[in-house]
Amino acid sequence: MIANYHTHSYHCRHAGGKPEEYVLTAIKNGLSELGFSDHVPCPFSNGHTSGFRMYVNETETYVNEILELREKYEDKIKIYVGYEAEYYPKEFEGMLGNIRKYPLDFIICGQHFLRNEYDGPYSGAPDNSPEKLAEYVDQVSEAMSTGVFTYVCHPDLINFTGEESVYRKEIVRLCEASVRYGVPLEYNCLGLEGHRHYPRDLFWKIVAESGADTVIGSDAHVPDRVAHPEVTALAEDKMRRFGLVPLQRVSFKDPN
Ligand SMILES: [Zn+2]
Ligand SMILES: [Zn+2]
Repeated sequence: MIANYHTHSYHCRHAGGKPEEYVLTAIKNGLSELGFSDHVPCPFSNGHTSGFRMYVNETETYVNEILELREKYEDKIKIYVGYEAEYYPKEFEGMLGNIRKYPLDFIICGQHFLRNEYDGPYSGAPDNSPEKLAEYVDQVSEAMSTGVFTYVCHPDLINFTGEESVYRKEIVRLCEASVRYGVPLEYNCLGLEGHRHYPRDLFWKIVAESGADTVIGSDAHVPDRVAHPEVTALAEDKMRRFGLVPLQRVSFKDPN
């Protein structure tokens, strides 16, 4: 692994460590590029507040902290300002409007909730509903169609427990959108190491048949998980078994 674009920090209030600690681990583990993608602040139109993302009034501090690190370590590593963001149709323009006030290199899509968060279920809750699965695929496909998301993180976060044939049909649709809009899909190291329900083998078999681009993301929530050598090797090995060759670097889709 030479680049990782999925990195959190204390700013989102459920990850540990300062951005600089993540940078130092990235350098130690041989990365030449590190993208910060903490959970995006969102000025929800109805006043809703999320427990797992930074506050809107912290945006500038977050960006400035990363810009300082970019300069301090410019001889050793390239550092990018980004966010992991959901595609919430009613909140999308407001969310972008806030982060566009400051320097911004990229955003990646992590669709943690359906609809707009305050009116939709958590994507990762086990559910055998084909409608919920289809809604997730529709929403992530629409996210990709906006042209601002560089890739989709843990695209297999949706935790469908129903019939395999239904799952296959919907994931084929998701992969078709990925190919159509040129948005890579991320094999997620946090889920792999934590034995979560993702990465899901069947999902990645379907990805391999689809020809969609793929990328590995650390999804580091503690500094020592940035490009962790053993976890990354395990992810690479799993992908190799599916016949997948992940991109080493991704080109950003301009979110500005
Ligand atoms: Zn997180
Ligand atoms: Zn994440």
